[in-house]
Amino acid sequence: TNFTDLGLSQPVLQALDMKGYDTPTPIQAQAIPPVLEGRDLLGIAQTGTGKTAAFMLPSIDRLRASDNRIPFKSCRMLVLAPTRELAGQIAQSAKDYGAMAGLKVHSIVGGTSVGKDRNKLHRGTDILVATPGRLLDLIDQKAFNLAGVEILVLDEADQMLDLGFVHALRRISQLVPQDRQTLFFSATMPKAIKDLVGQYCKNPAHVSV
Ligand code: AMP
Repeated sequence: TNFTDLGLSQPVLQALDMKGYDTPTPIQAQAIPPVLEGRDLLGIAQTGTGKTAAFMLPSIDRLRASDNRIPFKSCRMLVLAPTRELAGQIAQSAKDYGAMAGLKVHSIVGGTSVGKDRNKLHRGTDILVATPGRLLDLIDQKAFNLAGVEILVLDEADQMLDLGFVHALRRISQLVPQDRQTLFFSATMPKAIKDLVGQYCKNPAHVSV
């Protein structure tokens, strides 16, 4: 398989070309077709498997296809990650892969100025990468809302639970629109994660590497 066979668009293929990737990793080959179809996804995968591109590339094409406007004080795609390091890496990947598609990308994490985050999110964004705590701070301050979310990604969900974000994740699940698409990734599948999958996903395609 190559990326063209998976059904990705020209702008995304160009971005991959610039990155020098020619062959999809196993998680990418398995995950990209169902995500492009609009299905929810449950991915069991570790870091280093190429999972960031597995969710980012088809999501960029979904965003391009729906072509909605950037929502005021909200985003079209929300990616939740456990740490600022991971959130920073995901945001960089989103910028690289989304460059040709003209999508606006922001990240917000704890430990930086909330005032700056408020300003940069005022006009909304296509893609927001956030840690759960900082995201809820902004929501509680009425500086951000989740009404515009078309695609929600939970990356390293088991790590988010280990870091004590269980309550935050429950709240966020109640604030996102019902008709969104959810892509859920975890390296492990203990009971607490299965419960969370049940709250977030509808009939997800299962992929595991
Ligand atoms: P991740 O698991 O998303 O953290 O990705 C691990 C590393 O693999 C990152 O440095 C990516 O840039 C790289 N990568 C992802 N997909 C591919 C691919 N199809 N071909 C070559 N490298 C890739």
